[in-house]
Amino acid sequence: MGDERDVILKLRGVKTYFPVKAGIFKRTVAHVKAVDGVDIDVLRGEVLGLVGESGCGKTTLGKSILRLVETTAGDITYVSKDNETNLTALNMEEMVPFRKRLQIVFQDPHSSLNPAFTIFGSLQDPLKKYGVKSKKERRKIIGDLLESVNMRREYMDRYPHEFSGGQRQRIGIARALSIGPELIVCDEAVSALDVSIQAQVLQLLMKLKKEKNLTYVFITHDLSVTEYICDRIAVMYLGRIVELCQSEELYANTLHPYTVALLSAIPVADLDKKTKRIVLEGDVPSPVDPPSGCPFHPRCRQAVDICKTKVPPLKRYAINGHDHFASCHLVDLPEAT
Ligand code: SF4
Repeated sequence: MGDERDVILKLRGVKTYFPVKAGIFKRTVAHVKAVDGVDIDVLRGEVLGLVGESGCGKTTLGKSILRLVETTAGDITYVSKDNETNLTALNMEEMVPFRKRLQIVFQDPHSSLNPAFTIFGSLQDPLKKYGVKSKKERRKIIGDLLESVNMRREYMDRYPHEFSGGQRQRIGIARALSIGPELIVCDEAVSALDVSIQAQVLQLLMKLKKEKNLTYVFITHDLSVTEYICDRIAVMYLGRIVELCQSEELYANTLHPYTVALLSAIPVADLDKKTKRIVLEGDVPSPVDPPSGCPFHPRCRQAVDICKTKVPPLKRYAINGHDHFASCHLVDLPEAT
């Protein structure tokens, strides 16, 4: 599914389940269905937002794309100019060239920066791995990378603790860029930062995207961030996509009650636009034993009888000339042909 445009990544029927073990023999007694059947195309050059509450599966989906966790079912196909490669069918050795093209920036840059190493020490690893043999050349590349994220080249000889959270995140971005990726998964990349620093890092990400023709999958729980940087947004709930459309359409013509609730929680500066906050009661249900029918029904104020028994399919609608996907029994629009 997706628009007829240049696709870089195709996800079809992707499921990522984790076994729940119990007893002295550690037998598998159930599965956490973290990602439960996702179909989506990522378009080359776009910023695709993946949003939802904590526990909705968005981070697992991001890690599944990079094979940082193994999928249980489905295909993740990387599309280059000449061919298509199903990443889920590759062994770890065959995956190496694709790791160069697909990178990740984590919420906590500590996870990619070893506190015992200087910045040069941390950033040179991927360069060594991908064949930059000369130390002089690695220092030059890392100096250039630091400048590209608005930092001084000489910072490469300092340690992570000498930098602020925002600076560390910029170093994390430099690390992700070091081997020239085409697609970067930004996993809550600005969530731990103060609002003013968030804006700086977002501006930096957008500058780099333009300069280096990057594609981003931007994972966040914060819909006030996605509005400004995402071209399209996919809303996830209990491992599934429940709404997907152009960013401006999501805010202007929201179709799914879960998205309506998420949007109502965004603080608005413009008093005329103020909407009533819909408080989502309870937490996201356990992905070990998701509710029957529409998984959102126990928390949905609009739920009707059918919602308890029948899973609403993700249907395609055409709104203002754009594809708009939603999975809710109450959407009263003709399906797109
Ligand atoms: Fe709510 Fe029913 Fe729509 Fe699910 S299908 S979002 S429960 S109205």
